[in-house]
Amino acid sequence: MNIVEEHIKFFHKELPENITLVAVSKFHPIEALCSAYDVGQRIFGESRVQELSSKYEQMPSDVQWHFIGHLQTNKVRQLVSYVSLIHSVDSVRLLEAINVEATKINRTVDILLQLHVAQEATKFGFSCEECVQLVQTGAIKQLNNIRVCGVMGMATNTEDESEIRKEFRDIRKVFDYLKSNIFPDADYFKEVSMGMSDDYQIAIQEGSTMVRIGSTIFGTRNID
Ligand SMILES: *Cc1c(COP(=O)(O)O)cnc(C)c1O
Repeated sequence: MNIVEEHIKFFHKELPENITLVAVSKFHPIEALCSAYDVGQRIFGESRVQELSSKYEQMPSDVQWHFIGHLQTNKVRQLVSYVSLIHSVDSVRLLEAINVEATKINRTVDILLQLHVAQEATKFGFSCEECVQLVQTGAIKQLNNIRVCGVMGMATNTEDESEIRKEFRDIRKVFDYLKSNIFPDADYFKEVSMGMSDDYQIAIQEGSTMVRIGSTIFGTRNID
């Protein structure tokens, strides 16, 4: 068994049953994805449209492709036909662009709203207040070809565990608020995408439903 297979098997055993594993395969070759696939992994996360398209064409059709990177509106058209979840929706403009393209091909696209809770200014996303406001105005409900399935976020890259924990807790709080006030009857509103290689254990303790793990499965990347 190769190392990728071992790592996938480890996570399938290690993660609680109700946690979805997104294997983040960005910058890794197709052979590595095939190894993961061979031991049962079906959900892969990519952060570039071009790379996702190319891998989509090479991998079996039962793979579910999640987009996790910053998405430019001019790349949306290429993505909507085969993406199964977009984690990283970080602006109203992008929401509208996804809806337009999804409408054209008569598809409903599942998305998560990305929250910016980290201290780094380089990260993308809505503030918690903006996100709640956006959903509360009802404007999203007018976007008929989009289904909001939850929220996503990244914690600050720090050694300070209490800071990471606090940020994950903030993400979960937004989810809980939206769930009870806006989506109480929507069974599809159920995902809290948080936790990466270095912090997934904390994320799970704080209420993650979906972890996005790259380097611990596939090894370190040359670029990011
Ligand atoms: C690259 C990436 C990951 C995976 O990070 P690792 O530290 O390699 O596990 C998760 N989420 C997002 C948004 C990413 O861009």
